[in-house]
Amino acid sequence: MKVIKSVAEMAEAREQAPRPMALVPTMGALHEGHLSLVRRARSEGATVVASVFVNPTQFGPNEDLAAYPRDLERDLALLEQEGVDLVFQPSQEDIYPSGFATTVDVGALGRRLEGEFRPGHFRGVATVVCKLFTIIRPDEAYFGQKDAQQTLVIRRLNADLNLGVNVVVCPSVREADGLAMSSRNAYLGPEERRASTALFRALSAAQARFNGGERDADKLRGAMVQVLRMEPLAQREYVSVSDAETLEELARVDGPALALLAVRIGNTRLIDNVALG
Ligand code: AMP
Repeated sequence: MKVIKSVAEMAEAREQAPRPMALVPTMGALHEGHLSLVRRARSEGATVVASVFVNPTQFGPNEDLAAYPRDLERDLALLEQEGVDLVFQPSQEDIYPSGFATTVDVGALGRRLEGEFRPGHFRGVATVVCKLFTIIRPDEAYFGQKDAQQTLVIRRLNADLNLGVNVVVCPSVREADGLAMSSRNAYLGPEERRASTALFRALSAAQARFNGGERDADKLRGAMVQVLRMEPLAQREYVSVSDAETLEELARVDGPALALLAVRIGNTRLIDNVALG
């Protein structure tokens, strides 16, 4: 496994790597969710490039950029075990050199849901993913359904800017009790960890109502709110039943839809989603 620390070196390596080449972008602090993407990329027989970059532009001024968990040594050991070929670990200055000014904004899609509570977040995501796609020029890139809105933003960006990457979305990997794996789960104390199961319990309640025939989106949102209300440590930011492509809030569920939520457990902000139908 080769660790590449600069854009110039990456540009050289991409020319020599056997194709197809698959990219798995991460912010490090790796867990089974990340590794599932790596395994999927490997199983397709591609040269696998994992990027590890805590992207400052996708964090708001009052968010957890400084506290975000970092353990590069452990990450590299895990990536090596998984048979990753190249790790791209650029510095902030290399990605955002002095004078950097251009950003990518995907419009309304990036302002809903997460975008409403994290203004500018998806501009940061779209900008860095656009840069990773153009620096690395992968044939494929792997993302997790756990960040459902992010996958839609990336598909939009990839199509709108003709980046030509095959974007593959992989299922959410969960702990045994349903909590979606996330680097931010490391922030949770034991009580909070117990309370954090409320997210998946709420989503499961909506899914159960949907599977029982309920199509009124307000009733499905209500089912999620009811579960969250019973958990005193859970502070709801949003619950949503949205069109699976546009993320517009639905009145009725008649086609592919997602139930999504964002909840604070103490100081930790968690998100999750499940498909309806
Ligand atoms: P992050 O390091 O949080 O930016 O995540 C890097 C990639 O891993 C993104 O495509 C995430 O959607 C994906 N990912 C994070 N958590 C999970 C999970 N629990 N299951 C599947 N994919 C995940």
